[in-house]
Amino acid sequence: MSNIAAIEIFPVHLPMIRSFSFASGSAGKAGGRAPHIFVKLTDSDGGVGWGEGRPVTGWSPETLETVTSTLRGYLAPAVIGLPVTDRWGLHRAMQRAIGRGPSMGQPIARAALDMALHDLLAKRAGLSLRAFLGGSDQHNRMALSYTLTGHDRASIGEEMEAGQAAGFLHFNFKAAVAPETDVEVAETVKERIAVGGFVWADANQGYQLHNARRVGQVFESIGVDVLEQPLPADQFEQMRSLRSSTAIPLAVDEASVGPADFLRYAAAGLVDYLVVKITRSGGIWPTLQQIAIAEAGGLPLLVSGLTDGFLTKLAVCQTALAYGFAGPAALNGSQFTDESAIFPTKREIEYNGTVHLSDAPGIGVQPDEDALRTFVV
Ligand SMILES: [Mg+2]
Repeated sequence: MSNIAAIEIFPVHLPMIRSFSFASGSAGKAGGRAPHIFVKLTDSDGGVGWGEGRPVTGWSPETLETVTSTLRGYLAPAVIGLPVTDRWGLHRAMQRAIGRGPSMGQPIARAALDMALHDLLAKRAGLSLRAFLGGSDQHNRMALSYTLTGHDRASIGEEMEAGQAAGFLHFNFKAAVAPETDVEVAETVKERIAVGGFVWADANQGYQLHNARRVGQVFESIGVDVLEQPLPADQFEQMRSLRSSTAIPLAVDEASVGPADFLRYAAAGLVDYLVVKITRSGGIWPTLQQIAIAEAGGLPLLVSGLTDGFLTKLAVCQTALAYGFAGPAALNGSQFTDESAIFPTKREIEYNGTVHLSDAPGIGVQPDEDALRTFVV
C-alpha cells in the first residue's frame, strides 16, 4: 500500500457575489473576498486527492492564515509517510501535532487534509466516496436548503419566490441578527413554503436564555422545524433550561465540533438532530463517529456548511448519502461565492436546488489546478 508522499497547500481568495451576515458575524460582503484553502495530497504511487476548508472568522477562530500555517508547518509534516489507508493514524498524528483544548484544535485545517485523503482512497478503490464509505451509488441526490438573508416580510417573500423558481423546496433563515424581526420572518417563511418544505432557523449563538425561551415558544407555535444553536456554544447548562421550556426541535452546530461534544448533548437529551458539517468537525473520519452516535441515539441528520466550497459540498453530500440522508442540506456556497472558474462543471452537478452525484470515483469533482493558481494569495 502506498504512503502519503506530498501535500501542497493553496490559500486562495474567491469572489463574493452576495453579502451574508448571521448573529455572530459575517461571511463577507458582495464584491469582497472569501478565503478558501485547498489541499492537494499525492501518494507514493502518484495518486492524487483534493480537500478544502473555508474559515469564517465571525463564526469560529480559524483564518486563512492559521489554516495555511497549521497545514504547512504542523499537520502536513506530521502525516507524510503514513500509509494512505490509515485514517485512524492520520487523526492520531494530527492530534499529536496540534493538541486539543476542551475540544478538537484547528478542525477546519484538519478537515481539509482528511478530505483529501478520503478522495484519494476512494479513487484508488475505484468507488464514489459514498460507496467507499459503505453506502450505495443509488442514493445520488441531495436536496439543498435555500438560505434567506432578509429580515422583513417583503424581502423574505421575494427571496422565497426566487428560491422556489430555482427549484428549492427547503428554506433556512438566520435568526437573532435583527431579533425584533424573527417572528415576522418565521411567519412569512411558514406561510409561503410548499408542503414538505423544511423551515430551519439558525441563531448562531445569538440569544440569551430569556430571549431563546420566548422565541422558542413562538417558533414552536408557528411550526418552525428546528432551532439551531440558539445559545452561546459554551452554555451547556442553559440548553437544559431552554429544553425544559419549549418543545421546538433543537440542534447545536458551533457546540458540536468533535464526536464527544455531540455525545454530551445527545446523551443529555438536549438535541433532536445531528447537524453534519465536515469542516467544523475536523473531517469525514470524526463526522462518521458523530453519525454513529446519532444513529445509536435515534437522532436524524441535517447537513450544513457555512458557505463551504463546491468540493466540500460534494464531500458532505457523499458522506450523508452514504447513510441514506437526502436533505435538507444548507450548503449555500453557490448563493454567495463565485467558484465558476475553478469548478467549470458545477452547473452540470448542482441545479434545481439539488446536488446530483455521479458514480465517478472519489468526491466527484476536483478544482481546475491552473485556474486555482490564479487565485492564490
Ligand atoms: Mg449553523
